[in-house]
Parts: sequence; C-alpha cells; structure tokens
Amino acid sequence: MLIPKVFLKPGKEQSLRRFHPWVFSGAIKNLSGKIDEGDLVEVVDSHDNFLALGHYQIGSIAVRVVTFNKEVIDDGFWQKKIKQAWQLRCESGLALNNQTNAYRLVHGEGDGLPGLIIDMYDGTAVVQMHTVAMYKLRETLAEALRVVLGERLKAIYNKSEGTLPFKAGLEPENGFIWGRSTSHIALEYGLKFKVDWEKGQKTGFFVDQRENRALVEKYSGQRNVLNMFCYTGGFSFYAMRGGANLVHSVDSSERAIELTRDNVELNFPGDSRHEAFAMDAFKFLDSAHHKYDLIILDPPAFAKHLNVVQNALQGYKRLNTRAIEQIKPGGIIFTFSCSQVVSREAFRTTIFSAAARTGRNVRILHQLEQPADHPVSIYHPEGEYLKGLVLYVE
Ligand code: SAH
Repeated sequence: MLIPKVFLKPGKEQSLRRFHPWVFSGAIKNLSGKIDEGDLVEVVDSHDNFLALGHYQIGSIAVRVVTFNKEVIDDGFWQKKIKQAWQLRCESGLALNNQTNAYRLVHGEGDGLPGLIIDMYDGTAVVQMHTVAMYKLRETLAEALRVVLGERLKAIYNKSEGTLPFKAGLEPENGFIWGRSTSHIALEYGLKFKVDWEKGQKTGFFVDQRENRALVEKYSGQRNVLNMFCYTGGFSFYAMRGGANLVHSVDSSERAIELTRDNVELNFPGDSRHEAFAMDAFKFLDSAHHKYDLIILDPPAFAKHLNVVQNALQGYKRLNTRAIEQIKPGGIIFTFSCSQVVSREAFRTTIFSAAARTGRNVRILHQLEQPADHPVSIYHPEGEYLKGLVLYVE
C-alpha cells in the first residue's frame, strides 16, 4: 500500500533529524494527496528524502512520529512497541511486583507510542487514546496487549470518551474492549486503593505520584499532616503508615472524599487519626491556624496552555504562600505542579517568590519528578510534566 507523503518546507526537517517526534502544521509545504485524520504518513524533506513515519492529525501538531526508520507498520510493529514498554517496566521493577500492581505501561511519546496511555491496575489495562490513529488501532493494540502480557492480562477497558479530538466525530464509548474485571482494588507499595476507572479522573488513579507518596511516609512520623487536593487520598495512607499523629485530607470534590474514606477503611479500618473534608483548598488553608507540620500541595494542572501560564503561576504562588505562612516551625511542605507548560525553573522561581513573601527561612530538601514508568524521551522535553519540591520551613 502506498503511504501518502507530507513534504516539509526547506529547513523544517532539522527537529526531526534530532528525533523530535512532532511535525507542526506550519512546517508543512504540501501533501502528496488527500490525507485523512488518523492516516499513516511518510514525512519527507523538501527534496523528498525520508525522515519518519507518523500519524496525521488535524491541529497545530500535524504529525506524531511512530518511527524514524523506514520499516513496515503492521500488527507486528505495534506488538514490538508494547513489548518494549513492558520490558522497561520489568527492568524498573514495576511489573511482576507483588507489592505494587498499579503502574503506567505506556506513556505516549516516552514509549514511542504518541497519543496512547495505558495504566495497569492488578491486570486490568485502562487505555486512553488521544489521537484518531490510535483509536483506529484499538483492536490491534488490544491484541498486542494480549500477546505480550498473556495470562497476566485480565481485561482491557477503553476510556477514551473524553480524550479523543471532539471534532473527529468518533463518538467513542467507554467500556471493556476485552475481558471483564470485577476487582477495582489495586496495590501500591502494599497499600490498597479503590480505582474507579469508569467515573474517576484520568484512568482512575494518579500512578505518577507513587515514589513521591513513598517519600512522604519517611517524613510523617509524629507529624500533623494535611493532604491538600487528595483525590483518592494517596498521600494520606503513606502518612498514616509512616506514623503521623493525625492526617487531614481535603478535596473540593465530594466523590473524591468518598473514595478517600473508602480507601481509609480498606487500609486502616476505624483509625481515628484520619479525617476527610470536602472543601476548597484555599478556604481550608485560611482556617488552618498553624495546626500542621507536614503539608502536601498537589493541585490539578493550573495551566493547560501556554497563554495562561502567568495565571497559573499566580495560583501556585498564592497557594504556596498560604501554606508556608501556615506551617509550624520545622514543618515540611511537599509542593507539586503537574502543568506541562510550567517549567521546572518557573515553578521553582514561583516557590521562591512565595517563600520570600512570608519572610521565613525555607530550604529545599528534595527535587521531585515523575517516576520511571513515565519516561521522557531526551528528544522530547515536552514529555516532562511533573515537578515537585520538598521544603523545610523554619
Ligand atoms: N494528590 C492526588 C491527585 C490530585 S488531582 C493523588 O495523589 O492521587 C487534583 C485534585 O484536586 C482533584 O481531585 C480535584 O477534585 C481537586 N481540586 C481541584 N480544585 C480544587 C480546589 N480549589 N480545592 C480543593 N480541591 C480541588
């Protein structure tokens, strides 16, 4: 089958030669014919030299590269990609682990699979497709998962209703595309979590905070812990296991608070150290009255687009200023940003401004990031999104 071509303007091949996996629409000179969204295309320079194979889409990113090699893109190709992703999780000790069975198996560009996210929860693969091409490949990808994971795979749940381009008119429906699983309980470092992939946020759980949650456990002994933006309560249970005196979990969503309470019962039934509050984080901090000496701030992405970065930074500054003001002397703050458009430097500068406003002495104990199952291609820095600081406040 002849693969349609995308010709780049002279000079626009530079970033692809450095393996950056996106072609922006402005870099395109012309197309060899009619190309539909989701088609496989060959990207060539202005002299018709091969650069890459990728998926075509409508929008400012016009092509997402699947390979820089001239190779056949068939079912075997996708199987090979899924297998490589699986092997990497085995090497980092995440797959085949009896204490943790919640992890990210495929992280988009970080695994050379742009537009595809797969999170594993005790053998259930929750798949999120962000491009038309990946959606069209869903049966192929499901087969690849079955072949690579074998008996370890219990079910595949497609959760792409909210992630596919709306204008493509695909009207996908969430649901199992293979098998069925009744268990919604996943394990993370031996703690149990109820994962609601049907109605929950993202794929149902934020697997990306696993290592940072584990670090909270080490600092929680004898502390009064406040877990802001708690969602399923993740950080709170590590704090409880770490010996905290009390743990308060706050989220503005009632559903999140319900999930948090269910998870407390799963792990620490009847433990009176924990309390959950369905409340706005900013309001809650206003009435914190210097009660806490460990505060976790893990807000949602305040900025999803570059043009609102300034507003987002103001939001982080306001939130962190209040936390730094409110924390007891000798207190510890875990503060995060998961906005891809907010750089590590911009985030750190913002925390610096927040600290300076309070006049307190603040030191950085750790600089945190996303874990190994969310790999970042060195050629695609845009894949880095999670950053955090652990602060010691005197
Ligand atoms: N820390 C969580 C993930 C946080 S996701 C974990 O470890 O899994 C962000 C959460 O912030 C969502 O659950 C959302 O409901 C909540 N949220 C958003 N705006 C809020 C606000 N103004 N006050 C409190 N919670 C808020």
